[in-house]
Amino acid sequence: MDFSFTEEQNAIRDTAKRFAVEHLLPAYQQREREGEMSRSAIKMMGELGLIGVELPEAFGGLGADCQTCGVIMEEISRGDFNMASIQIMAGLNGQMICDHAHADLAHEWVPRIISGDALVAIALTEPHAGSDAVNLKLEARKSGDKYLLNGEKTSISLATQADVTIVFARTSDDGAHGVTAFLVPMDLPGISTSAFNDVGGKSIGRGSIFFDQVEVPAKNVMGDVGQGFKIVMHGFDYSRVLIGMQCLGAAMQSVEETWAYVAEREAFGRPIAKFQGVSFPLAEAETDLAMGRFLCYEALWRRDQSLPHTKEAAMCKWWAPKKAHDILIQCVLLHGHAGWGDDYPHQQRMRDVMGLQIGDGTAQIQKMVIAREVAGKVTVSHV
Ligand SMILES: Cc1cc2nc3c(=O)[nH]c(=O)nc-3n(C[C@H](O)[C@H](O)[C@H](O)COP(=O)(O)OP(=O)(O)OC[C@H]3O[C@@H](n4cnc5c(N)ncnc54)[C@H](O)[C@@H]3O)c2cc1C
Repeated sequence: MDFSFTEEQNAIRDTAKRFAVEHLLPAYQQREREGEMSRSAIKMMGELGLIGVELPEAFGGLGADCQTCGVIMEEISRGDFNMASIQIMAGLNGQMICDHAHADLAHEWVPRIISGDALVAIALTEPHAGSDAVNLKLEARKSGDKYLLNGEKTSISLATQADVTIVFARTSDDGAHGVTAFLVPMDLPGISTSAFNDVGGKSIGRGSIFFDQVEVPAKNVMGDVGQGFKIVMHGFDYSRVLIGMQCLGAAMQSVEETWAYVAEREAFGRPIAKFQGVSFPLAEAETDLAMGRFLCYEALWRRDQSLPHTKEAAMCKWWAPKKAHDILIQCVLLHGHAGWGDDYPHQQRMRDVMGLQIGDGTAQIQKMVIAREVAGKVTVSHV
């Protein structure tokens, strides 16, 4: 067992950290007010080689391991939780496109995603089906060498900003085997979007995507018809770990800033750090953060070794966002009245992180996955 990072990983951490401290952290709250991602900052991340590092070199990636992406996630999220969703979207969707899209389309889109020129979204959830995504209804009907897409996706991150989206649609009534993935450029006629007004994650933004007789070439089918659900579940085993690291990164930053605050702030004639009621929650947070990081890095290592990691990914996804959220609440509280305003970023991190207790599958769903992986189908309610 070796807990050290490689030289390459340390070098890329330095690059990501410098970029996060210089370019992301100072404008984290500003970007929330603007309500959209900064395309120029994304482009800079691309130029620095911080997007899609784990994707193959043939598509512009570095062919790095997933742990290296985890290193980047932590640092980018320390600077701006929302900007770190770019690494998740690129890693999750980029890998699915490389593995399953037609080669022409993969070569058209993946290099642009890695360079920061194009944003990619994933559209699985529908108004009536989130946790129960197998029951999605958006119809894809074959018509010659095209498919006609009709229906609505909802709660989609980057819905109004993405240039291309992986859309999961129903091609037959055969349950999970009737779901097919399509790579859909967002400028196709018949696509429209609407934006939500969210509690957090405002610069990523969520929204609905409406499909009205959208003609998608058959070439844009990803993988085999009817294999969409299998493709996305394998992808989620990765994104769920990265989301864990994204949430921990934001909490790490707030804990560091809160240690500095409590060392300065005085009450009863001394720094409040001298009170164990103040230092112990932060000591507990340090412990939880260390545990969460081990869990996430082990899950990434398992993926890199091609070992099963569905259970570990589900553990990361329910535990890390919850712990990070709990920690961020403590950071807000330890700032007293000052924490309850926008002079400090902790309240924004608290809101941003909370959304990821839902996005990509709730804690209940992750616990169902863990139970199924450990004890088998006896634990699954719907079979
Ligand atoms: C910030 C954010 C970003 C998102 N981004 C995307 C995106 O980019 N693309 C996309 O496709 N979707 C996205 N989503 C949607 C997200 O994946 C779904 O909201 C999530 O899977 C839950 O589905 P639901 O909202 O329909 O809740 P429901 O399925 O209606 O669940 C409601 C509640 O019931 C619980 N529940 C449901 N079934 C069970 C069960 N069997 N046992 C126990 N409890 C259960 C759930 O845990 C939850 O607490 C995002 C959501 C958020 C909040």
